[in-house]
Amino acid sequence: MGAGPAALCIVAELVEQGLAVNALASHTPERPWPNTYGIWAEELESLGMASLLGHRWSDTVSFFGDGQGDEGQLPVQHQFDYGLFDQGALQQALLKRCGDVSWNLETAKSINVLGSETEVICSSGNTFRARLVIDASGHRSQFIRRPNNGPVAQQAAYGVVGRFSSSPVSKEQFVLMDFRPDHLSEIEKKEPPTFLYAMDFGEGVFFVEETSLACFPPLTIEKLKERLIKRLSNRGIEIKEILHEENCLFPMNLPLPDRKQPLLAFGGSASMVHPASGYMVGALLRRAPNLAKQLSKAMAIDPPLDSAVLARRGWQVLWSRELVQRHRLYQFGLKRLMSFDEASLRRFFATFFRLPKKDWSGFLANTLPLPDLILVMLRLFWISPWRVRWGMTFGFRSSYSSE
Ligand SMILES: Cc1cc2nc3c(=O)[nH]c(=O)nc-3n(C[C@H](O)[C@H](O)[C@H](O)COP(=O)(O)OP(=O)(O)OC[C@H]3O[C@@H](n4cnc5c(N)ncnc54)[C@H](O)[C@@H]3O)c2cc1C
Repeated sequence: MGAGPAALCIVAELVEQGLAVNALASHTPERPWPNTYGIWAEELESLGMASLLGHRWSDTVSFFGDGQGDEGQLPVQHQFDYGLFDQGALQQALLKRCGDVSWNLETAKSINVLGSETEVICSSGNTFRARLVIDASGHRSQFIRRPNNGPVAQQAAYGVVGRFSSSPVSKEQFVLMDFRPDHLSEIEKKEPPTFLYAMDFGEGVFFVEETSLACFPPLTIEKLKERLIKRLSNRGIEIKEILHEENCLFPMNLPLPDRKQPLLAFGGSASMVHPASGYMVGALLRRAPNLAKQLSKAMAIDPPLDSAVLARRGWQVLWSRELVQRHRLYQFGLKRLMSFDEASLRRFFATFFRLPKKDWSGFLANTLPLPDLILVMLRLFWISPWRVRWGMTFGFRSSYSSE
């Protein structure tokens, strides 16, 4: 169910395993995805898919200074390539691998697990049955059960692809996070922090996006837009032409689904967004092959396993004990970060990117085994200034924390 990146990734892998797949989505899988997807280039290289990048930057930086004087303007050089997917190419590459799967343009309304099969009833009244249904309908799925752990922090961003009176970032540069707060009043500095995510697309076109990493309640698009314009105008930059606007809102710390439920999920519906960064596409590409392989094995068991048993097997693979523990650590980290004021947050990130590259990149991609992840977090604590250590241990009490 679904036709986003999660659905296409898992369908492609199920087909690869030789399983019979019937896809069901509210719209055609050919419809262009609305979001721009970014990723560290190495993650794609390790999957042999780097050719799917539409843009790639080697000059990748962040700013964690206060924006005052020369020192406050200094960039942190990541020395690590970042890229944006060529969405069309990614979508088509996955669709090609989906082969001749039939796409039913339907919206699922209810799902009943019947025993050996699961039934999907659609708004049209049509009914579909399968041995296993995988819900890849995104984070708003109404079919997946998950505990209610209170407010869910959202990542929110407002971005513009366009032309500007002067360059918002240096030529051929990618800015992961520009946290410089020199355009903010003292009162605004006490509001939830936001940063600029920006890049040069060439030929005078740039993408600039004001982003709130995670907050509850989420920052409004109006607020983010106001912040973006203020940040730009503080540097004497005006937006001259808007080619595309991006309004972004998605949950960062959606609780993990109940892994005993009889319906399997993949992607946003399975809480696969990285709780510390908001990234997911790399994880989809990495985790889909094994899930499909294990499902294929389970499907081959004789006598056939019931739908609910197959789904539970799937959950065990998708959210193994190790991955659950890692997820909990990330969620703990995010909760602490959400209590940081803007100055502490800048200090935190400046320290984070002083970690060895393999540590911070592994942390962000969620590719570090649990013992390594714990070591990296301890190392981060060890090299952090006292105030950041305090925040990491106890959190701060700020008005925009979810605690
Ligand atoms: C603006 C934005 C920018 C992002 N940027 C990045 C990024 O740079 N890098 C990154 O890794 N991640 C990013 N993310 C996070 C994450 O990767 C995306 O949210 C991703 O689109 C989630 O994929 P998905 O396939 O799970 O869900 P979706 O992309 O939401 O797709 C859900 C699909 O299910 C269909 N559907 C929904 N309900 C039903 C139903 N009842 N019946 C049938 N079909 C249904 C929808 O039509 C759609 O096709 C971003 C998210 C947003 C919102």
